[in-house]
Amino acid sequence: MAITVKNPIVEMDGDEMTRIIWKMIKDKLLFPHLTLDLRYYDLGMKHRDDTDDKVTIDAANAVKEYSVGVKCATITPNAARVKEYSLKQAWKSPNGTIRSILDGTVFRKPIIVKNIPPAVRSWKKPISIGRHAYGDIYKSVEFKVPGAGTAELVFTPAAGGERVSLTIHEFKGPGVVMGMHNTEKSIRSFSRACINYALGEKCDLWFGAKDTISKTYHAFFKEVFDQEAGARKAEFEKAGARYRYMLIDDAVAQIMKAEGGMLWACMNYDGDVMSDMVASGFGSLGLMTSVLVSPEGKYLYEAAHGTVMRHYYEYLKGNPTSTNSVASIFAWTGAIARRGELDKTPEVTAFARRLEAIVVKIIEDGTMTKDLAAIAEPKVQKYALTEEFLDAVAARL
Ligand code: NAP
Ligand code: MG
Repeated sequence: MAITVKNPIVEMDGDEMTRIIWKMIKDKLLFPHLTLDLRYYDLGMKHRDDTDDKVTIDAANAVKEYSVGVKCATITPNAARVKEYSLKQAWKSPNGTIRSILDGTVFRKPIIVKNIPPAVRSWKKPISIGRHAYGDIYKSVEFKVPGAGTAELVFTPAAGGERVSLTIHEFKGPGVVMGMHNTEKSIRSFSRACINYALGEKCDLWFGAKDTISKTYHAFFKEVFDQEAGARKAEFEKAGARYRYMLIDDAVAQIMKAEGGMLWACMNYDGDVMSDMVASGFGSLGLMTSVLVSPEGKYLYEAAHGTVMRHYYEYLKGNPTSTNSVASIFAWTGAIARRGELDKTPEVTAFARRLEAIVVKIIEDGTMTKDLAAIAEPKVQKYALTEEFLDAVAARL
């Protein structure tokens, strides 16, 4: 008998190979067991273009309304994609748009599987990364400087008073210039989200920035973190956890020697880059989960990887593919488990946890896709194709 999920989940469909996997997950693993009320938004490239990207905004607002969403990977168009899909324009990153509407923090955590040893020998426990999801280069203005001239930073106070003007550079010839910003409100809610996550998981919180070079911008992040963590010192002590500030390069060096088990809070760009490094270090991008948590407690789950374009082109040619669906499955189970918690329907949460346990067990028993087979210990001779893996999970459910 199917289990009924009481309240709606916002579903955002996506692109390429992950879109193919997405449908298989629903058809093989979810629909046979759950009665789901899905609020569907098609964030596939074509439909974003058709709606002038309005669908992305509507989908983000739906997460605000229903509290829980799940998102398939989507193309962020560049010049090549504009040509490939005959787009009206290079639409913004959907993730960027959604993050700025929800003003949330992205937490990424690897799925630990016994027979996939991390590339870094010291890593024993998952390293979670908290990526600030607002501002910096992701919400910047850029300008290609055509030739000699002066670039200035100007601030005009809304309340009147004196304008502030700083010279960025006296250009002698062509170059580039960028203006970026962040807000105290966003930095503070980011630090609070990280502190809540760390206290919830009873794990250490690391924060790294470059305040020695950026004595105002980066230093402000440090100041806010120090204040917020300082205010909750007693709770950290009670949880047996510690807050540590480090220079970002020191944090990178320390992480390679650490055992794991901490939350590493990162500024937006650092989080973008370091989450890919940590994911690869733990085995595969296909084992990295991701959740965007807003300060109001709205949750959007997804896989950390992209649309796996190379595999999609093989798929289109009719060639067999072996694409890892684990992170996409965990995006769904994350959303379903959260829905169950919010709705107080433990049977729904239990279904999600059981599905997760089955996925891990199947890999530990030796059935896995090519990306994992290449790094599994002991070695796995025969890897599963995309659909074979999902069928193996479906058979055990
Ligand atoms: P990607 O989709 O993450 O894939 C890069 C490579 O990593 C793949 O070619 C594959 O390596 C490996 N890989 C990633 N996920 C895998 C999985 N589930 N199973 C097996 N192998 C996996 O990144 P990309 O190809 O650079 O980007 C493709 C598109 O995704 C871009 O248009 C980008 O904008 C978008 N993107 C979206 C998101 C998002 O929506 N959250 C995030 C990142 C990128 P091999 O080819 O060696 O097998
Ligand atoms: Mg990245």
